Amino acid sequence: MAKILIVGGGVSGLSAGIYAQLNGLEATVCESRGTAGGNLTGWRRGDYFIDNCVHWLTGTHPETETYRMWRDLGALGDGKTVQTESLYTCEQNGRRLSLWRDLSRLEADLLARSPRDEREIRSLLSAVRGVIRFLGIRKTDSGEPVGRFALLRAVPALLRYHRLSVGDLADRFYDPLIRSFLSGFLGDDFASLALIAVMATYCSGNGDLPRGGSLAMSERMAGRLTDLGGKLLLGKTVSEISCENGRAVAALCADGERLEADYVILTADPAVLFPRLLRRPVPRSVAKFGAKAGVGRFSAWHCAFACDLSALPFRGEYVLPLSPADCAETGSDRMILREFSHEPSFAPRGKTVLQTMVFCNEPAARAFIALRETPDVYREYKQQLGRTAERLIAERFPTLAGRLTCLDVWTPATYRRYTSSEIGSFMGYALPPRIIPRRLPNRVPGLRNVVLATQWLHAPGGLPFAAESGMQAVLTVLRAEQRQKRVPAEEQPYRPETVSP
Ligand SMILES: Cc1cc2nc3c(=O)[nH]c(=O)nc-3n(C[C@H](O)[C@H](O)[C@H](O)COP(=O)(O)OP(=O)(O)OC[C@H]3O[C@@H](n4cnc5c(N)ncnc54)[C@H](O)[C@@H]3O)c2cc1C
Repeated sequence: MAKILIVGGGVSGLSAGIYAQLNGLEATVCESRGTAGGNLTGWRRGDYFIDNCVHWLTGTHPETETYRMWRDLGALGDGKTVQTESLYTCEQNGRRLSLWRDLSRLEADLLARSPRDEREIRSLLSAVRGVIRFLGIRKTDSGEPVGRFALLRAVPALLRYHRLSVGDLADRFYDPLIRSFLSGFLGDDFASLALIAVMATYCSGNGDLPRGGSLAMSERMAGRLTDLGGKLLLGKTVSEISCENGRAVAALCADGERLEADYVILTADPAVLFPRLLRRPVPRSVAKFGAKAGVGRFSAWHCAFACDLSALPFRGEYVLPLSPADCAETGSDRMILREFSHEPSFAPRGKTVLQTMVFCNEPAARAFIALRETPDVYREYKQQLGRTAERLIAERFPTLAGRLTCLDVWTPATYRRYTSSEIGSFMGYALPPRIIPRRLPNRVPGLRNVVLATQWLHAPGGLPFAAESGMQAVLTVLRAEQRQKRVPAEEQPYRPETVSP
């Protein structure tokens, strides 16, 4: 039985470990931190639980292939998910627009808001419905079955948006609230198709939330790995991969242990892993994609507050636009607020957690990481960010003034320390328009038995691509092994027909 050593116990690594076990290989996952999951995580602060990952999980609709993958990985438990009414809300001059789960309701709201934008509204929602069919979900909200012609009909609309950024898309609308509704969630620079994909995913019921939050999801995956006989070594940092004659032979751990392996699967950020563990540059295919014009990496800083549930002025997520003066202070033109009333166990009775997220571009993320070199200054700056976030929330929602208690502040430097991602980036790439993402090769030139499994192999990254990369890495090992799968019929892995050892 081939021994597979997996560096990193995030979603990519857990997925690789589970698929390895399902296919008769022997997996050992080494994870630096004390818990598995990587970015898919959460933590306690006193009586409160801070959930720090999933805003929407692609693949919660049972008719999709991604759902089958999550089922293989045990990620959803009994398959039941948390369905929220809306993904996010924008507001202007007292008028609100929400991205409802119910697409017809969204359409009605948009048309009521701005009849003169009718053409653009119908065109946008037709593209959203086209993507829903493309996802393989047979029924749209209108009950229309998918047919070949329906799919073909969607192509011109999708091509139309392919060239547009979210900002370009927003500019096509007269109504200022609709414009900020479109720009507010992902920001102007992303490909408009990315926003359309988010809308399609959420509105088709294919982007719900895992029950119990992010940490519960990663705990279920870790449990699945060990139930299948895989080893999960927590608090185990791999500091070097020992190579001989073009093959990796062992992982050398920071605690001095040497773990022998037939194959090594690397799952963390290649920008850090390659120079640190293999003493070689990042493979050209990965470096080249990251260097494409407009493709960016980003991170965020966040705060979490304890808040009275009865005082909460919105549900779900709320996009708070910031003034130019606030932009200078926070580094962004908007702050995403999120509440967790859908998970009552995250806070004492009558309370909830209110979180903020402010995106940082690469230079801003690097500045946070540099600041952490001076711990006192960094600590003071985090406290200042907490005060700034509290002020901005209270200015917008005066009923919350004096009623928020700061639980925690975390930044790109936290992500860098926690997951070893170069700039603390947690979501792969920001994708500009006109680039069609494709899966990058997972082989490492010059090393026959080292394979990559990471969200960095498929833009824009995120949980499904991370999990899929783990499955692909195992397929690569199986091909290299030239062996037949031994998988019980009821445990058929994701897309087994793609295996051709
Ligand atoms: C705030 C936030 C919101 C998000 N929202 C969403 C969302 O709504 N939907 C979505 O799909 N995705 C979302 N994501 C992104 C998602 O979490 C990531 O895409 C995914 O978790 C990446 O998984 P990964 O395994 O590839 O990498 P990581 O999570 O980075 O895991 C890598 C692991 O490797 C470990 N490691 C690194 N170096 C070593 C070493 N030398 N030895 C041992 N272990 C090592 C790290 O500790 C880490 O656990 C969000 C992330 C965050 C933080």
